Amino acid sequence: MSAEAELKAIAEEVKACTQCKLYQGATNAVPGEGPANAEIMFIGEGPGFHEDRQGRPFVGAAGKFLEELIGYIGLKREQVFIANVVKHRPPSNRDPEADELEACAGFLERQIKAINPKVIVTLGRYSMARFFPGAKISAVHGQAKKVDGRLVVAMFHPAAALHQPSLKQAVIDDFKKLPALITSAEKAAGNSPPEPDTKQLSLF
Ligand code: URA
Repeated sequence: MSAEAELKAIAEEVKACTQCKLYQGATNAVPGEGPANAEIMFIGEGPGFHEDRQGRPFVGAAGKFLEELIGYIGLKREQVFIANVVKHRPPSNRDPEADELEACAGFLERQIKAINPKVIVTLGRYSMARFFPGAKISAVHGQAKKVDGRLVVAMFHPAAALHQPSLKQAVIDDFKKLPALITSAEKAAGNSPPEPDTKQLSLF
């Protein structure tokens, strides 16, 4: 099956999913969106009000900011894949619970496998925890780690940055490091010219 077909199949399964309680209060499932061959995948937490209404990830205020951030790295949102750790909206935007994260984990796993992105950017604590168990976001944001042969970069959630002005600049600065991280990932894979500045890169 092509990556595109697999992503479509996953989206259909997500829409029909009743594996945890979140579907009960949701208007629409939000499987995620973007090209099947995206080099960068962003993983947020879960749909909020507007995402639930539209069935699309990051379309509210946090989404506007995310698009601005993606612009800092010279890309448009249509060029990246955007997903969440949970695919139905938690009531009143509460944090996702362990059983909900567990129920949705397989979908995210399959999306990652199908897209096979060079870089995964985690947005917020729940997405970070999937790749950096036990890490503190205040300590590891803007840093990259190799997980299963690809770079995973932890970032603050855009919504948190909107609510806490002190985080806003940190998120912008972290995003601006992404191109160098991507170049270094390509270099490590042996398919791109040497990359000029590794000093800025912070791998842990
Ligand atoms: N916040 C998220 O984590 N995901 C969305 O899709 C929207 C807001």
